[in-house]
Amino acid sequence: MQVLTTVAELRNWSRNRSRGLLSAGIGLVPTMGALHEGHLSLVRAARKRGDAVAASIFVNPTQFGPNEDFERYPRTFHADCALLEAEGVEAVFAPAVVEIYPAGAATFVDVEGIGSRLDGHSRPGHFRGVATVVAKLFAAAEPTRAYFGQKDAAQVAVLRRLVADLLLPVELVVCPIVREADGLAMSSRNRYLSADERAEALALSRAVRAGQNTFAAGEHDAEAIRATALRELTRSSAVRVDYVAVVDWATLEPVERVKQGHLLAVAVHVGATRLIDNCILHAEE
Ligand code: AMP
Repeated sequence: MQVLTTVAELRNWSRNRSRGLLSAGIGLVPTMGALHEGHLSLVRAARKRGDAVAASIFVNPTQFGPNEDFERYPRTFHADCALLEAEGVEAVFAPAVVEIYPAGAATFVDVEGIGSRLDGHSRPGHFRGVATVVAKLFAAAEPTRAYFGQKDAAQVAVLRRLVADLLLPVELVVCPIVREADGLAMSSRNRYLSADERAEALALSRAVRAGQNTFAAGEHDAEAIRATALRELTRSSAVRVDYVAVVDWATLEPVERVKQGHLLAVAVHVGATRLIDNCILHAEE
């Protein structure tokens, strides 16, 4: 596995590699590192598709707010590389911040409207940072496909809009949420949780499941589904609710009547840690 640190190296790898490919293409898996099974599921999806896979590890400063966890975000580069190599990743792109944001960098990508809903509302500027770094990664890696997790469902909506609006020649592949055995969605931030907080954090997956069950039982009123999810979250005094929303996944606009394919999304703080979860509402369990 090659470790690449410059945009030129990544672009050369991608161009040389695609010349040698008979089918499939270049698969890019963007991450911020501190890898877990959720990230690895994206790599496996790319491998299964037959892509030559590059993963990026870059803790992107522009998607963090001033009082957020950029400085203390977990950085486990050597362990991450071992995991990626074992999954058959061919190239890891791990640039320094100046490689992505050289002195004088002044261009940012704002996905209007959708970029300020859900997490974009709670974390102003977050999706501007995400859209900007992903656009740069696409320009550098020139991937055929890029793999993202449904775990960050609002991010997926923003990136679909980005790709459509900027006419980017890349296919987005969205992979299901990988959970711990007890239901907690895997996240690099789960390692911030104390044992007590880890137990309280189960309220998220319970809330999402309760909302889904309510929908599957025939409830189509968004407010009723929201209320069911909210009830699960407020059972725990350690959980501070950021949002509970039922939205159209494409636009992130709230809906009143819920249909299959709408998104139930929740975000909370457990202690100092912000956690998110969601599900795409579907008729049957
Ligand atoms: P991050 O390193 O948190 O920026 O995540 C990198 C990619 O992994 C994003 O596309 C996430 O949506 C995805 N991801 C993170 N956690 C999970 C999970 N539990 N299941 C599936 N994908 C995930």
